[in-house]
Amino acid sequence: MTQQQTVLRDAMRRLNMTRDAFAARIGVSRRALDTWLLPDESPESRAMPEIAARYVGEILARMPEGSASTQSAYPIEFEGRPQLLSIDQFSRESAEALFRTADMMQPIARRRKITRVLEGAVLANLFFEASTRTRVSFGAAFCRLGGSVCDTTGFTFSSMAKGESIYDTSRVISGYADAIVVRHPEQGSVAEFARATNIPVINAGDGPGEHPSQALLDLYTIQREFSRLGKIVDGAHIAMVGDLKYGRTVHSLAKLLSLHKGLKFTLVSPASLEMPAHIVERIGRGGHVIEQTSDLRAGLANADVVYATRIQKERFADESIEGYTPDFQINRALVDDVCGRDTLIMHPLPRDSRPGANDLATDLNHDSRLAIFRQTDNGIAVRMAIFAALLGVENQVRHSMRDATWKSPASVGPDDAVFHGFD
Ligand code: ASP
Repeated sequence: MTQQQTVLRDAMRRLNMTRDAFAARIGVSRRALDTWLLPDESPESRAMPEIAARYVGEILARMPEGSASTQSAYPIEFEGRPQLLSIDQFSRESAEALFRTADMMQPIARRRKITRVLEGAVLANLFFEASTRTRVSFGAAFCRLGGSVCDTTGFTFSSMAKGESIYDTSRVISGYADAIVVRHPEQGSVAEFARATNIPVINAGDGPGEHPSQALLDLYTIQREFSRLGKIVDGAHIAMVGDLKYGRTVHSLAKLLSLHKGLKFTLVSPASLEMPAHIVERIGRGGHVIEQTSDLRAGLANADVVYATRIQKERFADESIEGYTPDFQINRALVDDVCGRDTLIMHPLPRDSRPGANDLATDLNHDSRLAIFRQTDNGIAVRMAIFAALLGVENQVRHSMRDATWKSPASVGPDDAVFHGFD
């Protein structure tokens, strides 16, 4: 039944239809469609009748040449090599092709199935800057594809502390590993790593530059959440909040979102932390409405997505940020006041939960609008898809899947059940 979910999601994405519109198009109730989209382990999950499956197949087959192709529109590549350095490498179609692979990975990411398609492959995870989720999730994604991971963290214990160049480090590691994930505090440094090797390199954050895999998992999450809520990305209102100057995740995400149509971006930040002009100019080219403000309350009103970010204190010396007061905090009272029941609250994490930090409040933790842990969960499937694409195994995954033998809970977080599995 896993395949049925992938086919249906793919069909809705390619037809650019909400669940309601798609249910009407194939002549079934929204409720029936929801049950066909549920994960297999959900007690309410149902198999789609043969006749409906055939009809969906016929609709897709009748789509114009090109859009009906199930062949992926990529490998992910940069200057002829299988590398992921910038979100600029993606078109809307190639991102959607990647998301098809991510959908296929979901049962593995959720520990229902296993695969060994990367058995024998080794990943070098090189993190020269702080990280928890990006490092562990890239590692876990590689392991769930059957590979193994070697990690190094920080400069202190690396040869860079002895003055080794990026070129030398990159070339050396290329002899040890089959793929390299790199995070480094300098913008452009990961591209320098990539130039010194022919093996796949993934940019896991280069200073204030980019964080492409985060943007991909964010858009993937928005699409899945919107599907549940009966919305599509075209025409959505996205509010980006916080440190838009140094926050690399919003740089990549804004560019990726701008591949859609008719968006409204509200960019909310203290005056000294505004979105760089080149990114604003770039999204402006897509014909989207852009508003910039430092007024949080006004900025969040009517947003479909509120994407909060942490102040990147590690990137600037001056501690005081004018306008970044407790009033600037996104918390339950504010969200209840100015956002709708369907507004998604997202954050790339980590959020600074120390007293006095004005980052996204924890009092939203039990609110189903808070999508931060769905983002992190989806990160595994998306990063598996990235590896599968870069290493050329995406066509082997489906047939390689076996049932997982160990027992794991139906949902991993105590609050996850609020969604009744309708994701
Ligand atoms: N984890 C994200 C990043 O590495 C966001 C952050 O650190 O605030 O860019």
